[in-house]
Amino acid sequence: NLVKEEDLTVLADLGAGNGGTVTKVWNKKRNCVMAKKLILVDAKPTVRKQIVRELHIMNDCASPYIVSYYGCFPVDVHVGLVMEFMDVGSLDYIYRHTGAIALEIVGKVAESVLRGLVYLYDVHRIIHRDIKPSNILLNSKGEIKICDFGVSGELINSIANTFVGTSTYMSPERIKGAPYTIKSDVWSLGISLVELAQGRFPFADPPQSGDEEDDQATPVEERFDPEATLPVSSRRPNLSPRRHRKRGVSLGGGGMTMSILDLLQHIVNEPAPRLIGRGNQTFAESAVQFVDWCLDKDPAARKSPQELLQSEWITSLTVTQAALQTWAQGVAESLKNDK
Ligand code: ATP
Ligand code: MG
Repeated sequence: NLVKEEDLTVLADLGAGNGGTVTKVWNKKRNCVMAKKLILVDAKPTVRKQIVRELHIMNDCASPYIVSYYGCFPVDVHVGLVMEFMDVGSLDYIYRHTGAIALEIVGKVAESVLRGLVYLYDVHRIIHRDIKPSNILLNSKGEIKICDFGVSGELINSIANTFVGTSTYMSPERIKGAPYTIKSDVWSLGISLVELAQGRFPFADPPQSGDEEDDQATPVEERFDPEATLPVSSRRPNLSPRRHRKRGVSLGGGGMTMSILDLLQHIVNEPAPRLIGRGNQTFAESAVQFVDWCLDKDPAARKSPQELLQSEWITSLTVTQAALQTWAQGVAESLKNDK
């Protein structure tokens, strides 16, 4: 362990997700800022200790595309995990504040995530399992890195027990119960890329007429109300009883509202989202093709991260690290002005 709990002072809140809260901390021994994630683990102390042991594998993970790990420890009912602080933030926060991300930058996101996935899998045989914009982080050097991957089997088990699955980045085969493979991560990457390039979650509400701010569409996860989950859909009117649902997800077209269960069925049964431009916006054919490869509903036909790194979209990207840095600093600036 490079980090002791008593060396850390909390500086600010960075956010909270399902079963976790993240703070920016000052490490007085090492004189630097770090990020501390407290994960609620509703399990016996022995299980928490086992998780801490398993998380130490992350000590060996060193890649420019992976958020560095500094240490972890049990903290009462939590497991504390200390990692590199990424000062600009996560891509979901970024696009919600600045709007859709330029396609060339999204290409660099795709490349970074793929290199991170290849590293985790080829070197450590780790499948990420939770690729989504909130787990892709940016710093002011313009570096793009992934975090929150599934290193600890015990942690995966105990978190699965503590929240209802609302993972809407989940691939059709996973929804149908197949085990995780690296191809499931590729699907999640495809959904994430569409979200970043279009500035809205692909399964979110269609834009309201007269609503210019359709970039603000709230993703399903935030709309999902666990109190109101009975699948009721205009396609299956016989499913009863019809419950009052405050929140739901509408799919493009008919303004149909549906629950998380309907959404999962939709992912399994309907054609996958595509990278389609709206209005006068169009996307490069090589990018559209790339996303179609990620979102092939048949996992056997879906391309692997290695194959995708060889695709035309990725190999023809011309964005330099200096340009990424300029972009990242511009984003940081506009986020600051937003506050
Ligand atoms: P979920 O719990 O569903 O995975 P999430 O990824 O948003 O959602 P957390 O992993 O708890 O939830 O993270 C909360 C927020 O903290 C993230 O959205 C991100 O903005 C921020 N964050 C996480 N790790 C870091 C980090 N290393 N540096 C800077 N910000 C971070
Ligand atoms: Mg996260």
